[in-house]
Amino acid sequence: MYKDIATPMRTKEILQKHGFSFKKSLGQNFLVDSNVLQNIVSHANITDSTGVIEVGPGIGALTEHLARKAGKVVAFEIDGRLLPVLEDTMSPYPNVTVLHQDVLKADLHQVIEEQFADYEDVVVVANLPYYITTPIIMKFLMEKARVKQLVIMMQKEVADRITAEPSTKAYGSLSIAVQYYMDAEVSMIVPKTVFIPQPNVESAVLRLTRKEEAYPDVADEDFLFNVTQGSFVHRRKTLWNNLQASLPEGKEKKELIQQAFDTVGIDPVRRGETLSIPEFIELANALYPSFGKPRSE
Ligand code: SAM
Repeated sequence: MYKDIATPMRTKEILQKHGFSFKKSLGQNFLVDSNVLQNIVSHANITDSTGVIEVGPGIGALTEHLARKAGKVVAFEIDGRLLPVLEDTMSPYPNVTVLHQDVLKADLHQVIEEQFADYEDVVVVANLPYYITTPIIMKFLMEKARVKQLVIMMQKEVADRITAEPSTKAYGSLSIAVQYYMDAEVSMIVPKTVFIPQPNVESAVLRLTRKEEAYPDVADEDFLFNVTQGSFVHRRKTLWNNLQASLPEGKEKKELIQQAFDTVGIDPVRRGETLSIPEFIELANALYPSFGKPRSE
């Protein structure tokens, strides 16, 4: 077994050896605590028949822990300056492939097909770059990549929003978009002190597991998310006011919205934050025939 990268001393040694300086704009906060890393990996239930996707390997602190357990690790790294560093630090791990790519521009289906054809289980494990936490999560979920689980570190505040229940302050369109696809739970709270450099906020590890059964009878997923987003534009306003403002204009708009509320028996003076996902689905399905397609005048 090789010496862990994730100690303050070894990390500084590696950075110095390669003359590397952090880029704040790329969310570069490297983990320097092996206990936290072991904990993250243990929450992902990885075996040698698991394929792992990592986003942002940095100098490889998490990558090496993943490589010791997984069959194969494929890591997306945007910063070309880290490629020679990773070539050096990952040399003991032939099952690691680094792709020099912006994960947001990646063709996930193609990468998974090419890299993980022999792996039934593919999981994502990452200490995410915090400036793009939400777009990364939504990319993996909405593109319906063949990923069973994501175990990901992010700002605690974002993890709280994702796991929030209805009628709480943190509940919103992000909670709904993620919980629509995945079961979400916070596995661990992580203090700032385990990173170099330290981020400004506390972090949390979130485990997202694909729902065994998708929600049935959704007329149109994009429309559902339009309705949920539109319902939270002004949190203090009623559903009625928010939907009046956000649904497309057209003939008899008010009447058609009222009809939809009547059909599903939801009170339009409620606020979006009080509706559960099944209630949003019912409401969106009732609005869909009138507002889901381009409207004729
Ligand atoms: N995994 C390492 C660790 O835990 O120590 C580094 C994590 S650091 C929070 C985030 C990493 O993501 C950095 O290496 C950064 O260069 C990389 N990164 C930032 N934006 C990216 C993007 N769009 N695509 C791929 N990697 C990205």
